[in-house]
Amino acid sequence: MIEQYGGIAPMSDLILLQRLGEILKGRSFLHVNSTRKGGGVAEILQRMLPLLQQLGIETRWEIVEGDARFYDTTKKMHNSLQGNYEEITAKEWKHHHEVNMENAKKLDLDADAVIIHDPQPAPLIELKKRGTWIWRCHIDVSNPQKDIFDNLSKYCKKYDAGIFSVSKFTRALPIDEFVIPPSIDPISDKNRELSPEEIHETMDKFQIPEDRPMMLQVSRFDRFKDPIGVIETYRMVKKYNDCILVLAGSPATDDPEGAEVLKEVEEYAADDPDIYVLMLPPFSDIDINALQRAATVILQKSLKEGFGLTVSEAMWKSKPIIGGAVGGIPLQIIHGLTGFLVHSVEGAAFRTRQLFNNPEMAKRMSAQGKEHVRNNFLITRQMRDYLMVWHSMENKGQNVLTL
Ligand code: UDP
Repeated sequence: MIEQYGGIAPMSDLILLQRLGEILKGRSFLHVNSTRKGGGVAEILQRMLPLLQQLGIETRWEIVEGDARFYDTTKKMHNSLQGNYEEITAKEWKHHHEVNMENAKKLDLDADAVIIHDPQPAPLIELKKRGTWIWRCHIDVSNPQKDIFDNLSKYCKKYDAGIFSVSKFTRALPIDEFVIPPSIDPISDKNRELSPEEIHETMDKFQIPEDRPMMLQVSRFDRFKDPIGVIETYRMVKKYNDCILVLAGSPATDDPEGAEVLKEVEEYAADDPDIYVLMLPPFSDIDINALQRAATVILQKSLKEGFGLTVSEAMWKSKPIIGGAVGGIPLQIIHGLTGFLVHSVEGAAFRTRQLFNNPEMAKRMSAQGKEHVRNNFLITRQMRDYLMVWHSMENKGQNVLTL
């Protein structure tokens, strides 16, 4: 399977990955998060697991599950770590802890390396018996609410190491910290080439016309993704360029706010027949791929963002991209070279029109974007980095990789 990436991913990543696979073959590797469907973490894990297994590493993926109160609390953690003010009571913190301890009774946490993703399962560290335990933060913690981060840090600082997506998210935890941006899988159904027939099939299914330029944002219905700002952008663009807007999202089991935000978006879109708000079932990978390939300009107008896989997904498909200048988006969009970074609805509208009206420039930037993703944001690079962190944590201070 790794061979399938030959000619797609950089050769240097594949050689290092193969070498690390040989070194760690037969060892056990556990990932724990809080959902199997919806959002970027699940997206990456479902693709990475079989690849790691294929390298001979005994990799497992477990999830922690909770009641509505648990998800409400963890959503508040997520929101406050991304800078919104929230109050989490002592009872809620206690419940968060208890739900994790309940989950632990049925989870097998024994492994040589354990990566715990995000705040939901963070308390599991208290049950560590052996191995290297790493807390993997996917959230934009550039400006977190201090009391919430301090409380969560009581768990985080017990880990052997922390991994963040962007250097400015590192929080000076008193443990080793690494920066590893996420990645996309170029051969998954989400990102593989599609035939024109496959693309038309999706467009027909959702009755989206193909006669006008199309703006698209693919995101969970989350206020940090600014779907309302995307509609405002479209309305500004529409005054000058006839176009349609597609907002596509799907639910995540650990995101209780999705339905509420979807309602707000539908109300705001009102009865404009050129706005298509799609709530897709989980694992609609080919449909998402087709929508991204059918789009003329793709937006990810986030106000806060851990990384934003949808940006690399768009760039891999050679699509012009406009993103909010937050979190991990500027790693992917080099302003003016691989896409445009924006700070406002007006900026997003201006750049959308610029891309609509200058197809040659859009094509040039998109081609540069694809190469940027190839060199930096493919899954083989991320697997290489995870294995490298694990291996180096077990061999601190030594020259760990001799080819
Ligand atoms: N996604 C999807 N269906 C949707 C909305 C999103 O499959 O309706 C996928 C999207 O293609 C991407 C992931 O979910 O792979 C979202 O990851 P991202 O890092 O952009 O945001 P997150 O949801 O993790 O905040």
